[in-house]
Amino acid sequence: MRKTYAAVLALLAPALLCLSETPAAAAGPRTVWIDYKADKAWPVRSAVAFVDRFTGSQLRFGACRPKYPCVQIREKRKLANPSWAAVTYVGNNPTRIELSATRRGMSYSLRYDTLVHELGHAFGVHSHNKSCSSIMYYSLTCPNGRNSTLAFSSAEKAMLKRH
Ligand SMILES: [Zn+2]
Repeated sequence: MRKTYAAVLALLAPALLCLSETPAAAAGPRTVWIDYKADKAWPVRSAVAFVDRFTGSQLRFGACRPKYPCVQIREKRKLANPSWAAVTYVGNNPTRIELSATRRGMSYSLRYDTLVHELGHAFGVHSHNKSCSSIMYYSLTCPNGRNSTLAFSSAEKAMLKRH
């Protein structure tokens, strides 16, 4: 009799653990709110849609709210360094992306590239790529004068998938 009881407990314990995990699993990928205020020259929505294809999260537009990770995007008249087109501050919630208002007049593709690059930082790529074949190159333009490539490397894709 005793033996049977012990066996039942052993089966129940893993079942209970599984149950406690069910709500999180059913909720699907975590939601990250994208809270933005920027001139419409910045194609925030399409850049977010581009990056979201690679993230492990579901990105939604709306104000930051308690208990949710959030990326706050703001256009500023002056960034900490005037040579920056944009900057991302990671490590706190919300993650903050600042866009330089003085760069609003750049071409559409450069504004788009800027947003994709900063969103890459916001979603786990915390370094720059030495190669201009990635959008995570430190500059918007390559040494050959062309724009940096609108693509993530496979290592960067792996980082984005975890965020
Ligand atoms: Zn960067």
